[in-house]
Amino acid sequence: MSYDTECVFCKIIEKKIPSATIYEDPYVISFLDINPRFKGHVLVVPKVHVSTLDQLGDEAIAHLFVVVKHIAKNLVENLGAAGYNIMINNGRVAGQVVPHLHVHIIPRYKDEKQGMGFEVAFPVDEKAKSMLNDIAEKVKLTKEIKPIFRSEEKKEQKGHEEEEREGNSEKSGKSSSLPYESEYFNDDGTPKFK
Ligand code: AMP
Ligand code: ZN
Repeated sequence: MSYDTECVFCKIIEKKIPSATIYEDPYVISFLDINPRFKGHVLVVPKVHVSTLDQLGDEAIAHLFVVVKHIAKNLVENLGAAGYNIMINNGRVAGQVVPHLHVHIIPRYKDEKQGMGFEVAFPVDEKAKSMLNDIAEKVKLTKEIKPIFRSEEKKEQKGHEEEEREGNSEKSGKSSSLPYESEYFNDDGTPKFK
């Protein structure tokens, strides 16, 4: 993994400075924000030093957000949050202070003052509102984005192939190749890094 020796979150990942860690696996770490906006405010951080979401690989993003989901559910169940904000500040102009990508999960509670959401931080831009179609034309994505997971069709096909292999009792001991270029695993199923 590539870390940045000056980065506070890399230091947390490398256990050079302490954190109130609530989850960790080989790819992601999650800990409480030292300046919580609400009780249980956590950060979910990929274990690779990139600064913004667009710099992280698709597979790593998929895993990051699966972890975000599970942590959010845990906050709701164990802290009694009635909802939560999920936020990523990308770039200084967007309010990013720590230049290592991180997802904020901010639990929200029924008894708190209302009106602390989008409407306060991001008031409606009337000029942008009057140009919705022009802007949509400029930012349309024209290429289809391939899913990183196996489609049901491929799963079925793979299942048949596996059955056939087992029938021929020619097991190589290797797991089958992934249907996409994996950041985490080699084709034989071994992890690319730890
Ligand atoms: P951002 O503005 O999105 O870059 O947010 C950075 C967040 O990191 C802030 O909410 C800080 O309170 C939090 N933070 C900075 N240093 C630490 C640390 N050592 N442990 C936990 N959270 C931190
Ligand atoms: Zn870092």
